[in-house]
Amino acid sequence: MVSETQRHAAPEYIFRIMADSLPTLNSPVTALPGVGPKRSDHLAQLGIETVRDLLYHFPRGYQDRRTFTPVSDASEGDLVTICATVKAAKNLRMRGRNSMAILTLEDDSGTIRATFFGRGYLANSTLRPGVQAIFHGVVETYQGLALKGPEYEVVEASDDSNRHTGRIVPLYRLADQISQRMLRTLIADALSLVNGTLPETLPDSVRTKESLVPLTASIHQVHFPETPEAAEQARARLTFEHILTIQLGVLYKRSHRQARPGITHRINGAALKELDKRLPFSLTEAQDRVTAEILRDMGAPRPMARLLQGDVGCGKTIVAAHAMAAALDGGYQVAFMAPTELLAEQQFKTFSRLFADQGISVALLTGSIRGAAALRREVAAGAVRILVGTHALFQKGTSFQRLGLVVVDEQHRFGVAQRAALTAKGMEPDVLHMTATPIPRSLTMTLYGGMDLSIIDTLPPGRKPVKTRCIPENKVDGCYTYLMEQAAAGFQSFIVCPLVEASELRENSTAVEDHYAELSAGVLSSVRTALLHGRLDGGEKDAIMTRFTGGEIDVLFSTTVIEVGIDVPAATTMIIENADQFGLTQLHQLRGRVGRGTEQSYCFLLGKPATKEGKERLRIFCEMDSGFDLAEADLKLRGPGEVSGFKQAGFDDPHAADWVHDGRLLHRARQRAVSILEDDPELADAGWDVLRSRIHSYSDLAL
Ligand code: ADP
Ligand code: MG
Repeated sequence: MVSETQRHAAPEYIFRIMADSLPTLNSPVTALPGVGPKRSDHLAQLGIETVRDLLYHFPRGYQDRRTFTPVSDASEGDLVTICATVKAAKNLRMRGRNSMAILTLEDDSGTIRATFFGRGYLANSTLRPGVQAIFHGVVETYQGLALKGPEYEVVEASDDSNRHTGRIVPLYRLADQISQRMLRTLIADALSLVNGTLPETLPDSVRTKESLVPLTASIHQVHFPETPEAAEQARARLTFEHILTIQLGVLYKRSHRQARPGITHRINGAALKELDKRLPFSLTEAQDRVTAEILRDMGAPRPMARLLQGDVGCGKTIVAAHAMAAALDGGYQVAFMAPTELLAEQQFKTFSRLFADQGISVALLTGSIRGAAALRREVAAGAVRILVGTHALFQKGTSFQRLGLVVVDEQHRFGVAQRAALTAKGMEPDVLHMTATPIPRSLTMTLYGGMDLSIIDTLPPGRKPVKTRCIPENKVDGCYTYLMEQAAAGFQSFIVCPLVEASELRENSTAVEDHYAELSAGVLSSVRTALLHGRLDGGEKDAIMTRFTGGEIDVLFSTTVIEVGIDVPAATTMIIENADQFGLTQLHQLRGRVGRGTEQSYCFLLGKPATKEGKERLRIFCEMDSGFDLAEADLKLRGPGEVSGFKQAGFDDPHAADWVHDGRLLHRARQRAVSILEDDPELADAGWDVLRSRIHSYSDLAL
């Protein structure tokens, strides 16, 4: 392998490579100088396999190294970037196995300290005396002014390339053995290799209308911007392109779906009427409205693709049951898919109950069901009318005799591939997706733009919002006393922990097995407890849930396996251990397991948040009870990249996702996509040549 210094000293090397075999965008990274099998493995961890991947590995941010702060100008609280030489370095041993590096840094103007807690070794290695480096961090104090654990990057004698200093430098997401400077060098090499050969991806007309910079300039400027404005423009162009592509795919798919013939279901048949008679309650206005929307779609000749959105506990299942009844009335079969075995089992029971005396056979198919082969034969023969299951439903060899409707519960939990597999089955069934809105309103249209949308915006009557409290350590016993009082009054509780067993070892996390062992033999010994987690087999899980639903268990210790969908109206208390280790939408889902009856329910958050952000998250969570609001808050707190559903929907490039800071860009891209397809429904314009196949691949998504 050629070392970095050699490589820079000998640019001829690059030209020789080019003459031998001209690398193209699709060449593997090993076509680049200095990339052997080992380095290419490390790059693969970042999803970088080709030259194109490298060029599209956009920076997560930048550091302005055009000018450095003189050390003497730094004052407490400033965020500074300094370029200094290590004058003295001490590796301080501390108690336990800890160590700390204490450095004195010097530039022409003076000195300042830098400390690295837990990384004493730096003082004798990377940052030993004499080394020159760039440090970036907030000025704090430690025996005078000091940078504590700053980001740093060593300046090498060979840094004459104007790549790492003296400019705005890109900062990348890194992996094992891959450093910032290595990525910068590789990307700069890749850029010069493909120089002038990058085909423009957007038609001129679109670029002009949206005032977007050409692709080549964007790729250069996004990595090595001349000014902050140039970086911003480049990002805007690349993000817009990414979102536009997805939007075009989604809308293209939608228009083609609507042109295909689907099933015209017969509405108002016997099963539907019977269902209404058997309901123990009347539907809310919102449930009535969305049911009508769904039935109207089903009664129409084009295939339905509808998303039913509604907060946890709003009653989506019964709406789905109406759609199912309509399909059954026409002699069709129904597939109902749930993301977990636990939920599949619960829903199986619900539908068995609702359709039982109508002679409709309901079956359950999950990964742990015995006799699956025989069951599949019955499904194929049409003897099973409703098949409920996990994604095992659509794996190897399930075929339906006459599939008329597919319902996907908690659809945001399924990956794109799973959803695609589902619609590839059978004819052109109507599809109803259901989700408890972990997605902010501003993103919904973009993510699910290919579907029609129905929203349930009210809860069934009599529900009281769940009261949510952060519990300080000295009050935790009070929670357990409360659980016992609730148990005595006939109500049930959940205690949720982040881990199954202690050997998974994440620091400061409670393992549900230990917690269960301790509490059920201790403070909670007088009530009936049980333990549930994902490692139990399907039968065991089912047995425990049946006992819990039947009121034979007072306190259920669990992991997040109960997160989605589980419905036990007599459960009134949810205790979440290490609450700060869960995201907002996950907390909301967990809290949604209680407050499903008319009783006042409580959610207690235990554990001390390690970060400011964690504290803020819990504070927000205590104050908000609407899933819509929480999703918006989550978007603000974490950015769209982390919001669930975003990646699955084709926003798989974490950078593009991170860059979308609000809904405006999404909205603009959607508007543009609509007008592009109005003018050119097949995207026949040569300007789409490069993107056309990508757009079609998005349109294969089962969205
Ligand atoms: P989700 O929308 O979270 O899937 P479910 O469908 O599980 O919610 O419904 C939550 C609970 O509310 C269930 O126990 C269900 O029986 C009950 N429920 C649904 N609709 C109504 C209604 N109109 N009136 C009273 N209770 C209802
Ligand atoms: Mg549900």
